[in-house]
Amino acid sequence: MTANVGGRSTFAIRDLHVSVAGHEILRGVDLEVRSGEVHALMGPNGSGKSTLAHALMGRSDYHVTRGSVTIDGAELLDKPTWRRAQLGLFLAMQYPVEVPGVPLAALLGAARGADLTAAIRHEAAALGVRDELLARGVNDEFSGGEKKRAETVQLAVLEPKFAVLDEIDSGLDVDALRDVARRVYALARERSVGVLAITHYARVLEELRPDRVHVFLGGRIVRSGGPELADELERTGYETIAAELGIDELVVEVGGAPPDPFGDPTIGANPLGDPLA
Ligand code: ADP
Ligand code: MG
Repeated sequence: MTANVGGRSTFAIRDLHVSVAGHEILRGVDLEVRSGEVHALMGPNGSGKSTLAHALMGRSDYHVTRGSVTIDGAELLDKPTWRRAQLGLFLAMQYPVEVPGVPLAALLGAARGADLTAAIRHEAAALGVRDELLARGVNDEFSGGEKKRAETVQLAVLEPKFAVLDEIDSGLDVDALRDVARRVYALARERSVGVLAITHYARVLEELRPDRVHVFLGGRIVRSGGPELADELERTGYETIAAELGIDELVVEVGGAPPDPFGDPTIGANPLGDPLA
């Protein structure tokens, strides 16, 4: 993979429409992030933020019906996930997947074709990830906070051109939040990683200091501005902005049960059957 030597890269999302289970969730997303910029995408639960993250990385049950996603003009949407990663895209998932039996050094080593043990140890120490966790499978029985720190270790070691961070702040206490946000901020400023940070709280943005803030409602960006927009959101809430813009649909409703983050429809089901049936 070629490094981004000196030049500035552009990650461009154009008119992206995505359907899940036959329902349109993303309804025309347009966004451009350049190397070294930090963008925050803020929206309420159910507005489609994670759908955007999954679609960008190529999750197979998210169907792109229109639009394009490019890095420096190279189309990602016709490529498998691993090719998107090679072209410079990284995703930290809202619910990181557990991979028992595969330690981080094996995973990242295979991704880069190199022994990255030293770099992983260095980043792990900086992010407060204990050696004992590195010996385990990736995210295997990690706490929520440990997973988010470990995702940030991966990001720092892989140093992609662009990183999409889906609620990297969720489940973190204030200390972890500060450590993770500061590391991401440094990667953007010192290594020119372009960052798209998805969140619904303004708090993480105090440390991430985004250049641009986008309000995401009903499956698309409805307003963009500078950092002050996050403060405004914190004060007024999403509903006020929606009302100002004449938008009555904040979330995108899909019929049936909400998606299970672990992909197993039996989790949470009552083993004795539906008591009301
Ligand atoms: P957010 O991350 O903003 O909370 P999501 O993208 O997770 O929102 O969800 C947006 C809508 O899409 C919700 O109505 C959700 O139920 C639906 N959805 C997302 N993924 C799936 C899926 N795999 N199957 C069915 N519905 C889904
Ligand atoms: Mg989400």
